[in-house]
Amino acid sequence: MGFYKVTYSAEYRRATVHNTGCNFRCLGCAYKLTGRPTPGRMLSLNEIRAGLSALEIDRVHLMGGEPTTNPQLPEVLRFCKDGLRVRTYLGHTNGSRLITENLHGTNVSLKAFSPEKHLEYTGHPREPVYDNFRAAFGAGLEMKASCVYIPEYIAEDEIAGMADFVASVDPAIPFHIMGYIPVPGAMWRRPMEDEMAAIVALARERLETVGFSHLTPEQALDLTARDDRFKVVQVL
Ligand code: SF4
Repeated sequence: MGFYKVTYSAEYRRATVHNTGCNFRCLGCAYKLTGRPTPGRMLSLNEIRAGLSALEIDRVHLMGGEPTTNPQLPEVLRFCKDGLRVRTYLGHTNGSRLITENLHGTNVSLKAFSPEKHLEYTGHPREPVYDNFRAAFGAGLEMKASCVYIPEYIAEDEIAGMADFVASVDPAIPFHIMGYIPVPGAMWRRPMEDEMAAIVALARERLETVGFSHLTPEQALDLTARDDRFKVVQVL
């Protein structure tokens, strides 16, 4: 578990520090499709600090697995904010250990709304996630939320619950719905076009800014073909 790679987008003046390791065990985790990274070694704090210092950047994203499980995270955030004076974001977090210090914004991947389904799907209680989300907004972080729509499992009632929760924090918080991409070992299917449209409409009744993606497994394995934000070079 640790930070193992740094990538860079000159166009977006952004570095991304990649973590491996997660505290959740989501039944539909996309790593079951792509495979978890198997880095040869982890980066030291000195390597990360030197690597980031050499780049022309305005922002640093931390992501991969669950970045808040990484004990190096607080120091990397502190260095980015105080040392480099750039903006800091968690590209994705499950929200269970969300921190706010030296962080400008975060995208929280909500998994389920009902406590029973959250526990079943992730192996962890939902309360810390929702409490942390509200607290982070209260602390002034730029918040985004996302979820995965799984027909007949994380379906209408769960998506509505998550959207209602985000709206109760602030209906202007951007919300992104991903159509489930089938992974090995899980029984669910990919949503159909009309189901995806209906679930997006349901969320748009509750929130001001709702986006979505509905990728095939092949598209998910080559994100650079659809979004130039994924066109990066590895610098460490
Ligand atoms: S929180 Fe994300 S990385 Fe961790 S198991 Fe769940 S889907 Fe996978």
